[in-house]
Amino acid sequence: AQQVVRQRAWVEISDRALSTNVRHLRQLLGPQTDLMAVVKADAYGHGALKVAQTVLAAGASWLAVATLQEGVELRAGGIEAPILLLGASNTPEEVEAIARWKLQPTLGAVQQALVFSETLAALGQTLPVHLKLDTGMSRLGTLWTDAVGFGRFVAQLPNLSVASVYSHLATADDPDPTIARQQHRRFTEAIGALRAANLAPPRLHLANSAAMLSDRALHYDLVRVGLALYGLYPAAHLREAVALRPVMQVKARVTQVKTIPAGSGVSYGHLFVTDRPLRVAVVGIGYADGVPRNLSNRLEVLLRGQRVRQIGAIAMDQLMLDVDAVPDVQAGETAVLLGTDGNAAISADEWAQKLGTISWEILCGFKHRLPRVST
Ligand code: PLP
Repeated sequence: AQQVVRQRAWVEISDRALSTNVRHLRQLLGPQTDLMAVVKADAYGHGALKVAQTVLAAGASWLAVATLQEGVELRAGGIEAPILLLGASNTPEEVEAIARWKLQPTLGAVQQALVFSETLAALGQTLPVHLKLDTGMSRLGTLWTDAVGFGRFVAQLPNLSVASVYSHLATADDPDPTIARQQHRRFTEAIGALRAANLAPPRLHLANSAAMLSDRALHYDLVRVGLALYGLYPAAHLREAVALRPVMQVKARVTQVKTIPAGSGVSYGHLFVTDRPLRVAVVGIGYADGVPRNLSNRLEVLLRGQRVRQIGAIAMDQLMLDVDAVPDVQAGETAVLLGTDGNAAISADEWAQKLGTISWEILCGFKHRLPRVST
């Protein structure tokens, strides 16, 4: 393997935190419920192949990805576990690749089912497929009221074998359960109707992390867990449900330290101007690495276990810190952007809150540019 040099910035992935999270989550599941690890978007920025290997070893038995390419990457890396493709595929070219790589597609519409059946018949292959019902997310899937029509249509098509029926909740992280309960009722109704029509699916699934943590009645045969694997909580009120530890830490080196005079503008646009001589550290990480530029002048970073403030515009590969509180800090020292340092900690939730977004988006922002180091 290529040697990873902790040069200017890197992401640390704790295999132990990831395995422990999987084990703690599994403890909440009954013996009939399998854990499907959602590893789309490069495992929410954590590195899909390595995460897949670790979670499978720790007790997950299925994987889910969004795109064909993500599935191929796992298969090419030697993963043999069943892989559900959550996204939609609509062309014969996609069907051929899905079959070649033994991925399991989601079918959410009649037209899609037709393309799959026809293409697979031409290839002389049968694939397990997963039928998606829209119970109130208004995204992919056939409306729950048409479940029987859709199920019947797929059942009579050759070369498709229904492996599950599933749906996705829009508000499982909301402390108010009204909408999630409505979706659950619609799912139950649809499944009842499918059973009555002799179309009982072998597997059912509905829960994401929030649903899994909030209500056992939503577990069914599989839970599709993303965020919680990575050690974050989908909502504050779900913290009680299970002990989780963040898997990702983001670190960067101080690359230069100097004192600048009063009245100095800092970084592009001079969004920060010093009102006195200021000790400033340059750190080698920026928005191209996944630190949102919108955090400029609002970000805090850990240095020697202390919180220091970031000043001026966050640049593509670098940012500046006010280090008056730690004036003897040296080039080469490590700054913690996300993670813990001594007793201090900064979480993706903190960034998300400042930005008015969700922690999922923060994690996914850490793409391939930063080397990943397993710890
Ligand atoms: N199921 C589906 C269909 C999804 O799209 C996702 C991710 O968005 C998940 C499950 C996992 O969600 P979470 O990360 O909230 O557990």
